Order: sequence, then structure tokens, then C-alpha cells
Amino acid sequence: MVQNDFDVLVIGTGPGGYVAAIRAAQLGFKVACVEKQTIGGTCLNVGCIPSKTLLQTTENYAWIKNTSKSQGISCSDLAIDFKFMMKRKEDVVHSLVDGVIGALKRNKVETFQGEAHFTDEHHIEVVNGKDRIQITSKNIIIATGSESIPLPFLPFDEKKVVSSTGVLNLESIPKKLVVIGAGVIGVELASVYARLGSEVTIVEMLDSIAAGIDSTMSKLLLQSLKKQGMLFYLGAKVTKAAVEGQEIAMSVEHEQKSLSLLADVVLVAVGRRPFTQRLGLETIGIKTTQKGHIQVDANLRTSHPHIYAIGDVIEGPMLAHRATHEGIACAEVISGRQPIINYISIPNVIYTHPEVAGVGLSENEAKAAGLDLLIGTSFFRGNPRARCTGDMEGVVKVIGDKASGRLLGMHIIGPNASELIIEGMIALDKKATLEDIAHACHPHPTLSEAIMEASQQALGWAIHG
Ligand code: FAD
Ligand code: NAD
Repeated sequence: MVQNDFDVLVIGTGPGGYVAAIRAAQLGFKVACVEKQTIGGTCLNVGCIPSKTLLQTTENYAWIKNTSKSQGISCSDLAIDFKFMMKRKEDVVHSLVDGVIGALKRNKVETFQGEAHFTDEHHIEVVNGKDRIQITSKNIIIATGSESIPLPFLPFDEKKVVSSTGVLNLESIPKKLVVIGAGVIGVELASVYARLGSEVTIVEMLDSIAAGIDSTMSKLLLQSLKKQGMLFYLGAKVTKAAVEGQEIAMSVEHEQKSLSLLADVVLVAVGRRPFTQRLGLETIGIKTTQKGHIQVDANLRTSHPHIYAIGDVIEGPMLAHRATHEGIACAEVISGRQPIINYISIPNVIYTHPEVAGVGLSENEAKAAGLDLLIGTSFFRGNPRARCTGDMEGVVKVIGDKASGRLLGMHIIGPNASELIIEGMIALDKKATLEDIAHACHPHPTLSEAIMEASQQALGWAIHG
């Protein structure tokens, strides 16, 4: 069967692909998308949404268990219903997937179920079991995302040796969880199970956790996670692993010693890689980088001007909001508009407790750029709203350029950092100065006053500092 003549065909319906499809339809194109698994991609099904649902539920539980007493609230028979919690997570996922399916329908985007590959530059074949459909399109957007990287000696079985997908779908709470890799996935999902009572050990190759974030934030996060009971081996490597009865036995090299670890579940979270398997890129001569990313220009075009790529499958931070942003920009490029992608103001967030969020340059990056800096901090323990809520751990750091006064970076560890960082994002995007932030009238009492206070401190006139 040949299904002809779409203006835009999107391969993959993650937050990059489905948004590109809807935006293209809004711009008047005849649009189709292809999905081999479930609409919504990694983010909705096995990424952002299920992980944040479990993080929130377990944070609520941990708060009642560990903190509520300090506010005069006592609870005598606190319990966690693990199966109920996991079922609710699935319900949240399904409700959002249904929402996306509805949005695609409302925008008259035709959806094909199956795995797509190029047969030539304009033809896509979609394989679904024995069924094969040929589709042609004037423009094609590749939004096939990424997959977890396994360790060669520890392949995923998704029961005992799990990727993020497996750890989000465990049937019971592991007694001993070993997490390999203290990146974003490692620390977020370790937090979930540590709060549920698992004995959590994290083995990280580097000397710091959550590499890439501002070093102050990384140090404070490490301190906090250790206080929550997680055990870290930094600068360490798992060298061997073997199944021993119901457990996995691992050898770890740490500080020139070899130590043994036992776990009933091992989460391997050592990074993700772009997913282009079976896409047939070689058939049409689209090259990938050494790490497997599809190469694109500033307009998200591959070496074929009518084939585009967005999201995790191209280089850059693997973040849902970046994929979405590029999806919109890509549809607009196809319609002849100028794309607006401001990579410097894309924030990143780690949804641990305390949360960590950052945007723009870290202190080390700003120093390495040879700039004269204005740096200000404000601790949440001095913030009136944080005092009211009792959640006072953390700090806001702002980094400005002395010459222009402009904000270069903002980094927050503390309550609601994920929401607070939006002020930094807008400020960077609009090229605001520290003076702008310091003089903006922030509502009282709010956590956001810590951002104002940090900016005032950087300028040398913190009111409460
Ligand atoms: P994806 O979401 O990966 O979607 C790609 C889709 O393409 C998939 O549905 C796949 O089935 C489909 N596909 C692939 N090949 C084909 C083919 N040949 N034919 C048809 N379909 C195909 N990011 C955040 O910003 N915030 C978070 O809190 C966050 N949490 C995360 C938690 C976890 C556990 C994980 C794993 C990731 C998380 N991320 C988070 C990252 C985020 O999920 C990704 O950056 C985002 O999903 C990338 O979007 P995408 O559209 O590029 O690809
Ligand atoms: P990551 O790159 O963030 O972290 C991987 C960690 O594993 C690094 O610290 C690395 O040094 C370590 N590592 C690598 N090989 C190792 C080894 N052999 N032994 C021990 N440690 C090793 O990758 P991730 O945590 O798997 O996450 C993948 C992507 O998903 C990230 O790029 C992230 O942006 C995205 N994500 C984002 C969020 C969020 O925005 N909140 C949440 C989850 C995932």
C-alpha cells in the first residue's frame, strides 16, 4: 500500500516529534507521524513523567516520615502501598498520553503505528508485524530519541539489571539497590528507592556527581544525598559482576582497592545514546558523529535539505524541553520562518530533594571564559518563606558579567528550584542585568526573594546579607 503526499512526516512521537507534528499542522501542512512504541516517547512513557510522579509520591512519604513531627503533625500508621503507587504512576502516564493522542487528532495529524525506515530520500516504509506501508513526504523530521547505554559485562534483563525503564517498573522495593552512574537518572531514581527504604549504594566513575552542573550545587547535592542515607563511591568503577543466587555480586575498584558489593537490583545509569538503529540512514547517505548523533545545521537540516533531525538524536543536552523547542523551530523553518532557538537559556533541573536547577554558565565556565565576574549568593535559611515552610536547605547563586552587568548564569539548590529557575531563564533570554533582577519588586514572602537578594549581594548591597 502506498500512502502518498504528506508535506511533513515525523518519525518518533516524543516531546520533539509530536510537538513538531502539531506545530506543522497549525502552520497549514498535511502532516503524518510514525511511532514504533507508544505516543509520547521516552518522556511521557518511561522518562520525565513516571520518574517525577514517583519522586513526588516518595517525597511526600519521606516528608511525613521524617519532617512532619517538627511541625506538630504526627501519624501513627504510615505505610507505603508500592503497587498502588506504581499503578497511579501508570495512570498519570496514560492520562497524558491520551491528551497527546487527542491533540494530534484535533490537529488532523495522521498517525501510523510501526517502525519507520528510509527506502530512499523521499520514501519511508513503516513495518508493523507483517504489514508494510510506504509513505512519501516532501519534508521528513527524524525525532527518534535515545536509549540507555548498557555496560558490556552487565546487560539489561530489566528485572535484576535494569535501565531507567526497568527501575520505574519494579514489582517490589529492592532491599539493596546499587546504582552505577551518579548522573541525573542515577541520583533521581536512587532518591526514589532510598526514600522507600532500599539500602542504596552509588558507584560513580568521576570524582563528583551530576557532572555538568555548577560545582557548588554538585557538592551541596552530594552532601544532602549522603545525609539521606545514600552511600557513594566516587572515582570508582564496577569491573566485574556475576549473578549469585538471587543477588548480583560486583567488584568495584575504589581508591586503589578492590571491594565487593551485593545487590538484589542494579540500576545501570551511565548515560544515553542517540537511537538511529534500523532507520536506514546509510541508504540515504546521512552521516552520524562518532557518538551516533545525526549532524544538522543551525536550521536543524541534515545533509539532505528536506530531512531534519531534532531532540535526543542530535547533539546537545538530552532534555524534553529542548526537544520540544527544536520541534517547534523545525516546523517553523519548514514554513519559511526564522527559527528561534536560544540554547544558552535552556535550563536543566534535577528533581531530587533538594531540587537543583541551573541556566547559563556555571562559575567554572564563566571563569574559564576569562570574564570578570560578579557573584552573589543567598541561602534559603535566611528566606522568610523557606522559614514558614520549614524547607530551608540550599542556596541561590547568580553570576554576572562585571563589564556589562548582565546575568551570565543562575544556579539554585533548594525548595522549588525547578520553578524558581524560570526567572533566570527569562532574565538570560532577555539579556537582563543583575541590577534589573535586584530592583524587580519580588512578592513577599516568596522563595523568589532569594534570587533578588543574591543579585543584590553580587552588587554589594544585600539588604539582609
Ligand atoms: P524520545 O522521547 O526518546 O522519543 C523518540 C520516539 O521515537 C520514541 O517513542 C521511539 O519509540 C520512536 N522511534 C524511534 N525510532 C523509530 C522508528 N524508526 N520508527 C518509529 N518510531 C521510532 N528530560 C527532561 O527535560 N526532564 C526530565 O525530568 C527528564 N527526566 C527523564 C527521566 C528518565 C528516566 C529518562 C530516561 C529521561 C528523562 N528526560 C528528562 C530526558 C527526556 O525524556 C528526553 O530528552 C526526551 O524524551 C527526548 O525527546 P525526543 O522527542 O528527542 O525523543
Ligand atoms: P548522565 O550522562 O547524566 O550521567 C551518567 C553518569 O554515569 C556520569 O556521571 C558518568 O560519569 C557516569 N558513568 C559513566 N560510565 C560509568 C561507569 N562505567 N561506571 C560508573 N559511572 C559511570 O546520564 P544519565 O543519568 O543516564 O541520563 C541520560 C540523559 O537523560 C541525561 O543527558 C539527562 O539530560 C537526561 N535526563 C534528564 C533528567 C532531568 O532533566 N531531570 C532526568 C533524567 C534524565
